[in-house]
Amino acid sequence: MRVGIGYDSHRFAVGRKLILGGQAIPHSAGLAGHSDADAVAHALTDAILGAAAAGDIGTHFPDTDARFTDADSMDLLRRAVALVRSRGLRVVNADVTVIAEQPKLGPHVHAMARALEAALGCGEGSVGVKAKTNEGMGFIGAGEGLAVMAVALLEAG
Ligand SMILES: [Zn+2]
Repeated sequence: MRVGIGYDSHRFAVGRKLILGGQAIPHSAGLAGHSDADAVAHALTDAILGAAAAGDIGTHFPDTDARFTDADSMDLLRRAVALVRSRGLRVVNADVTVIAEQPKLGPHVHAMARALEAALGCGEGSVGVKAKTNEGMGFIGAGEGLAVMAVALLEAG
């Protein structure tokens, strides 16, 4: 058994779509970024790569590489799963916390979890997604951006 942790944060940017866990979420702003800026997919990708001691998302999918401009981050997540599979590891489960003052993400956590389970190739009930606010504090509280934490458990086989 191997555990990995991931973290990501992005600034809000007007005129972009808000994509989290592969879901387009209605909001007045999206997230700034080179790819689709899906911070949920990014944090979980880092957790999976970290569990395998296989570097991080920036190593494998550099934002200086034009191939990853506006990339579908769920596809990057699937590539990370394939990479750890090639090293004899599979994802057992994952847990994700999204910290955002706005929008309210509670109505979207179920769809995010199902999409992440599909990307990871693990069964329903394997991925938890939780939405929190930052109680008005700091850059998240001020609505400058949001942050995501993720952990993933991998096992041989
Ligand atoms: Zn990111």
